Amino acid sequence: MMKTIDDFAVDGQRVLVRADLNVPLDGGRVTDDGRIRASLPTLTALMNRGARVIVCAHLGRPGGKPDPKYSLAPAAARLGELIGRPVELTADTTGPAARAAVAALPPGGLVMLENLRFNAAETSKDDTQRGAFADQLAELADLYVSDGFGAVHRKHASVYDVALRLPHAAGYLVKAEVDALSRLTADIQRPYLVVLGGAKVADKFDAFGNLLTMADRILVGGAMAFPFLVAQGEEVGTSLLEASQVDAAAECLKRAAPGQVELPSDLIVAAEPGGTGEVVPADAIPAGQMGLDIGPQAAARFAAALADARTVFWNGPMGMFERAPFAGGTRAVAQTLTDGHAFTVIGGGDTGAAIRALGFDEDAFGYVSTGGGASLEFIEGKTLPGLAVLEQS
Ligand code: ADP
Ligand code: MG
Repeated sequence: MMKTIDDFAVDGQRVLVRADLNVPLDGGRVTDDGRIRASLPTLTALMNRGARVIVCAHLGRPGGKPDPKYSLAPAAARLGELIGRPVELTADTTGPAARAAVAALPPGGLVMLENLRFNAAETSKDDTQRGAFADQLAELADLYVSDGFGAVHRKHASVYDVALRLPHAAGYLVKAEVDALSRLTADIQRPYLVVLGGAKVADKFDAFGNLLTMADRILVGGAMAFPFLVAQGEEVGTSLLEASQVDAAAECLKRAAPGQVELPSDLIVAAEPGGTGEVVPADAIPAGQMGLDIGPQAAARFAAALADARTVFWNGPMGMFERAPFAGGTRAVAQTLTDGHAFTVIGGGDTGAAIRALGFDEDAFGYVSTGGGASLEFIEGKTLPGLAVLEQS
């Protein structure tokens, strides 16, 4: 059984919380604080219960060495605004600065350690290297709390190895994620529809095959659609396309039942992402143009399919929603899901950001997951190292 923070007396204890604060930034400003907000229930509960709270997290891919561009400072500043008092960020992750800050931490206090990935050992494939870094993290605390759901699919020092070294518990976010996503792995209410889109296509192909065995239908939009269209013999102009994925798409289409995979019938194309776009049939993308959103006919077809669903998992925006001319498909899917009665889970950092940016209320969806890869791997039924380790005593 996975214990939660409610199963531990934390008063006066040093509690190391692995959070997911990997938020999008524009310069030094957090442009979407969804993940920071999602970490609040655990952090405030621990502070209110008198714990000495040590928050650790990663930001971006600094490549294993300190790089001011990837400092957690913007996340610390935003967390400070949300909890109503400044959050100290240590100058290193487990070095003298971190140790001194932890030693000075009063009960009910909170400190944030600098980016875990400033240390190459955090993500190392070598158990010994990771272990040595996990030893340093473990020395800072009496209890480890796993609450960075977006990273639990990674066998990283702060996610996996540190839990082997300290008493450990799930935070409220990890608990809520597991509870919600479990409804997509067992006793699924059908029809179960999956909507896949976005731009990180390679990661999602791994999931596609497994989802074919679980979902009644898979609706494909975003840049995910292009390898499928090419596999069907279409030209996709200058659309975002990873040519290596075409074979994988062809394989998925071969394994799918007839009608199980639905591709967009039309698209909004432009010469470049700064353009305004025009609607074309999906089999007539002009050379020199790129598909930047699903078209209105595709959006209507997707909406009609989703209207009957009882369970929906949505990962990946239908288009380049950051620009208004290409936000229509994503908006249409979001609107349909908020109007309908299906239990809807949204996964994917950018998908959650998209619905917030388009003005939808998160509470109108069944659950908005903070995990991208983690939620996908969970609903595929895979074992996630950061969750499995919490089950061990
Ligand atoms: P998530 O984080 O939800 O898993 P991804 O990271 O895979 O989603 O992709 C999100 C990005 O996909 C968005 O920034 C969006 O602009 C981009 N995108 C969606 N459709 C297209 C498209 N047709 N062409 C280029 N980019 C796209
Ligand atoms: Mg993303």
